[in-house]
Amino acid sequence: MSFSDIQFKHDIKEYLSERFTRIMCDLDVDCDERRGIWFNKLLETLPIPPAYTIVRVNDLLSHRDEVQQLLQEHINKQYEQKRVKPPAVVPHPLLRDVLVIPSGHRDDPEVKPESLEVIVDLACGMAVLRGADIFAPGVMAAPVVMNRGDTVAVYSDVKGLCRRGMTAKFEGERLFLGNGKAVLSRHDIFVASSSGTAVVMTDPLFDSPSLNSILPSKIFLQNLPSILVGHILNPQPGDKVLDMCAAPGGKTTHIATLMKDQGTVVALDRASKKIARIEANGAALHLKCINAYCFDGTKACATGTEMAEGKDDCRPPFPRMTFDRVLLDAPCSGLGQRPRIYSKMSLSEVKSYPALQRKLFSSAVSLLREGGTLVYSTCTITIEENESLVVWALQKHPEIRLEKQEPHLGGTGLPVPGLSKEDQQKVQRFTPTPRLASGNQGRTVTCDNDTIGFFVAKFVKLNNR
Ligand code: SAM
Repeated sequence: MSFSDIQFKHDIKEYLSERFTRIMCDLDVDCDERRGIWFNKLLETLPIPPAYTIVRVNDLLSHRDEVQQLLQEHINKQYEQKRVKPPAVVPHPLLRDVLVIPSGHRDDPEVKPESLEVIVDLACGMAVLRGADIFAPGVMAAPVVMNRGDTVAVYSDVKGLCRRGMTAKFEGERLFLGNGKAVLSRHDIFVASSSGTAVVMTDPLFDSPSLNSILPSKIFLQNLPSILVGHILNPQPGDKVLDMCAAPGGKTTHIATLMKDQGTVVALDRASKKIARIEANGAALHLKCINAYCFDGTKACATGTEMAEGKDDCRPPFPRMTFDRVLLDAPCSGLGQRPRIYSKMSLSEVKSYPALQRKLFSSAVSLLREGGTLVYSTCTITIEENESLVVWALQKHPEIRLEKQEPHLGGTGLPVPGLSKEDQQKVQRFTPTPRLASGNQGRTVTCDNDTIGFFVAKFVKLNNR
């Protein structure tokens, strides 16, 4: 297969197309053409990785300039092995804690597959598209003759059908990702069960630096809209902040850093296995003000009975109006994630999220103090999980008001019934811009628009309601 089309289930494509087409028709502008450009280009863009690697600097420990220099030295060294020129690390023009690394420049954009074929699983394949090398656990198949030092072609198994360790050529659906150099032999990977780097990508189709485990206390790899969320929430030292759906803790650690590690960040997640990830990320960045709990956010506001029983205020569930700021980075259908070449998600799963998001939202409003700030975000493109959630929230909760965001780097919201023009301007929708020349419709591609699909809405809770 090629990068030309994302493999969502057919009914999901139909569903999205129908919903977006209706919006475009409501806009009353050249309906068919708008639909063709907007929706099809969006689908074409999702399988392609953003052209920028975004790094958040832990500015509690190091100055951004120092990290910029250290990263540049690391990248220059790494690219000595590649057939691509090293990219320059540059500061983001607006976000003071962000460094931007554009993709390396290829002199020869044609990469022809080598004859020895290595098949990796889908998760590993997506990481390769964003610059990672290949670790042995991600390898599904490798030729019997593969030895250390061999040049190999790397393919992603698209539908998870490759048997681990198979010796026959894999004939299932697969996507070519580029060529690399084997660091381990087939025997090392499947017999000695090594867990180290198996293949270094010397000639990837989409180039980005491999920054895994580099400067672990100084940087955090994060998508740009996710970093923006922390700045929009704007937590202050001494605040009490709730991150309601927090794992693996990317935004939690940013919030703690913005608070200069002073105050309290309560990080909840329903998945018990993921709590350790929040704690490990906090520890790696030397942050101490984070308290992580396995807890269902929909039940995080204490009931009258729980209050009467004199529960401990420091642990969930919490009394109403406990927090100065609440982040609800909601569980969502994730259809804005890039790169994505295949999704197993069913339409009924996509449609199941708004009900959960609304329950979490009402819980977040109860836990927010008067005058406090609530930020809602998703990494998906559906209208129901984004603009329609905002319309519902404003009707259901007259005690909150939609607020303008600072900074505003994304686009505005889509025109859905019930959302005023003014409110459309207040929310941010990031719609990935195709970077390929034929598709970008004259828009300049920058690190602010070649992002994952994302949505942010900011609210304040009014006093005396
Ligand atoms: N904010 C995280 C970050 O930046 O690293 C990403 C959060 S992810 C979008 C959503 C998370 O919500 C998942 O980790 C999932 O386990 C969690 N989740 C799902 N349902 C939940 C619930 N009812 N209460 C709390 N967490 C929930």
